[in-house]
Amino acid sequence: MPETTGRATPQLDDLYRDILLDHYRKPRHKGHLDDANRKADGANPLCGDQVTVEARVSADGRIEDVAFTGTGCSISQASTSMMAAFVYGRTADEALAAVGTFQTMMLTGEAPPDEVGDIEALAGVAKFPVRVKCASLGWKTLEQALKDRTVDASAPVTTDEGKE
Ligand code: ZN
Repeated sequence: MPETTGRATPQLDDLYRDILLDHYRKPRHKGHLDDANRKADGANPLCGDQVTVEARVSADGRIEDVAFTGTGCSISQASTSMMAAFVYGRTADEALAAVGTFQTMMLTGEAPPDEVGDIEALAGVAKFPVRVKCASLGWKTLEQALKDRTVDASAPVTTDEGKE
């Protein structure tokens, strides 16, 4: 066998798939908050994904608690779980910066230079534009929840904007 063809990093792909499935099967921060002061709904009609993100943000801008509910494909739900685990305990500003980091990763397909934990497992999704809408849903919904500063005042977010 003089030459081998095929994938250069199959182990890495398997690792990432395992991380994703772990979040899908055991979602972090799934449920409702009794005392949320931020909330937004998001949908990706293209795939049928739906999430609701709730958060309790303190007066000094820290995300004291975060939770989500939702249904949909494994990428949408795993990505939302990763988002919730990442932003829990951080400031709203840090969380909004993370949304930007995530969106950049979806454009470039490269793991961000910042420490983002499990989230880099989603970098490979960037190769599949339809899946990017799934992966982005929870993050865009969080962004909406944090920016609106009121509970449930906003129109639902959609990641299927009919253009690309
Ligand atoms: Zn999906």
